[in-house]
Amino acid sequence: MISSTPIKGVYLSSTVDLKARFGKAFESVSDVLNLHEPQEIADPSEIRFALSWKPADDAFAPYPNLEMVSSIAAGVDSILNCPSLPVDVIVTRICDPDQAYMMAEFAVWQVIWYHRNMRQYLINENNHVWRWVDRLSISDYTVGILGFGNLGRTVARALVSLGFPVVAACRTAIKKPDYTGITLLSGTTSIRNTAARANILINLLPLTAETQFVLDANLFAAMPRGSVLIQIGRGEHLKEADLIGALDNGQLSAASLDVFSSEPLPSDHPFWDDLRIMVTPHDASESGISVVVEQVAACVADFTQGKAHRFAIDRSRGY
Ligand code: NDP
Repeated sequence: MISSTPIKGVYLSSTVDLKARFGKAFESVSDVLNLHEPQEIADPSEIRFALSWKPADDAFAPYPNLEMVSSIAAGVDSILNCPSLPVDVIVTRICDPDQAYMMAEFAVWQVIWYHRNMRQYLINENNHVWRWVDRLSISDYTVGILGFGNLGRTVARALVSLGFPVVAACRTAIKKPDYTGITLLSGTTSIRNTAARANILINLLPLTAETQFVLDANLFAAMPRGSVLIQIGRGEHLKEADLIGALDNGQLSAASLDVFSSEPLPSDHPFWDDLRIMVTPHDASESGISVVVEQVAACVADFTQGKAHRFAIDRSRGY
């Protein structure tokens, strides 16, 4: 429906104070969107839009005329999995080039950390030991990347620029792939075939019905012995018990985990004290506030002008 008056929207999150984080910045686009806290809304039927991150199960229920929900992040899993999300609303996400660079920075750090065996250098330094640490040549250290979207592609390019062979998995075959140095695999076997070649495997998949618990004992068994896992997708991609099993039996030598099925990671969780595991607090990358505001406003403007929606995800695919 074409309209020139601003759309009325609501902030919906069970974990983040969205108004405190974004309220000031959204004032700059008040000609297209006016956002409110749920308790500020007198007539819920006026609400056509929601800005959301990890909504409570019943978050969407009060709003009978909701038409669009925007995630403040690249992922939309917490929104799509919310039981009160109406079946027909448009869901959009953030696709931030700077976030992709930040993700590449994190991934490059991790790959170099493990390739150069930095933990051993720190132990040696602590013990005043002057010793070279063995490593594979860069051209023998294959990086596997699960997911070749906005983030996976930038990560892959950064690693290729350092000389690492890169194999990446996506769903849909690209007709004429033009990615020098990257072997691109697609289809239902792409995840397993990527893992099978990876000395270090970076997970950058969206969380969907197909990818839930994809990081399991079967996948680890397919990887070269002693490989490393970098888990920066979503916590529910990983079967935690299978990771410990693979570390115990030497199939994996180490793992870095940035995302967890329960966040914040409980302080008594065994991952914290496991020297084979590096824990970071879901901080591999984030979308900038100005990009969120700009892209959400663009989506709302498209919607009010009856245009195709930029950044809308495909609900049937789940990402
Ligand atoms: P995109 O939607 O741009 O890309 C997703 C990629 O995954 C696509 O290449 C897609 O294939 C591929 N894919 C999806 N399902 C499958 C499957 N079943 N088998 C093989 N490949 C599959 O996502 P982004 O790159 O923007 O983000 C990826 C994820 O990164 C987010 O969903 C989130 O989980 C995580 N993330 C983590 C953050 C952190 O701080 N730790 C921050 C931001 C995001 P195709 O190309 O064929 O569609």
